[in-house]
Amino acid sequence: MSGNEAQKTSAPAVTQATLVKKARGKLAYKPADVSPQRRLQRRYTMRLWSVRHARFLEWVYARFADLFLMLHPFWNAIGYARAERPVKFVERHVKGLMFDCRMCGQCVLSSTGMSCPMNCPKQLRNGPCGGVRANGHCEVEPDMPCVWVKAWEGAQTMRANDAILAVQKPVDQSLRETSAWLRVTALAAHERKNTSGTAA
Ligand code: SF4
Repeated sequence: MSGNEAQKTSAPAVTQATLVKKARGKLAYKPADVSPQRRLQRRYTMRLWSVRHARFLEWVYARFADLFLMLHPFWNAIGYARAERPVKFVERHVKGLMFDCRMCGQCVLSSTGMSCPMNCPKQLRNGPCGGVRANGHCEVEPDMPCVWVKAWEGAQTMRANDAILAVQKPVDQSLRETSAWLRVTALAAHERKNTSGTAA
């Protein structure tokens, strides 16, 4: 048997495109009633509540950040590294309940109307993408209103309502699973020290 004949007999009877076409029924995207979002409905409800009360939460967070900054000598005394574990534990649970926080370590809730961008299935830090449905829902999670549509709505109620227009940096993966609260506090303390040093 010549090389060409052998190739002819061993060549697949169907192309890759035909296989994909045949499997289309199995590959079609999942209908809304099996969306994993349904399983997280309780958190999702809380998430929407947080967006609706973005202005109030902005006010609460400002007080909370001030308090954390006041505690800077305490964090310094025990060491930020040592404080990390317990603070992260509290942060994970509080923000997990309220925002479905994914502990990216670089919180941008104040700029995104209290809608966590890490809940976007594409994890876009600047959104929305081009796939928002006509009803404002996500193209990947049909049950879920687009995280960025909600971010815009929440931002409109906040004092800093133009913060959402700022372009966010990509996520620094090395900061995942760290406390954003402590990092922001350490940075604010550092800036305060620099400012007072310059003024003196
Ligand atoms: S932006 Fe990051 S830290 Fe803030 S709520 Fe979302 S995952 Fe958590």
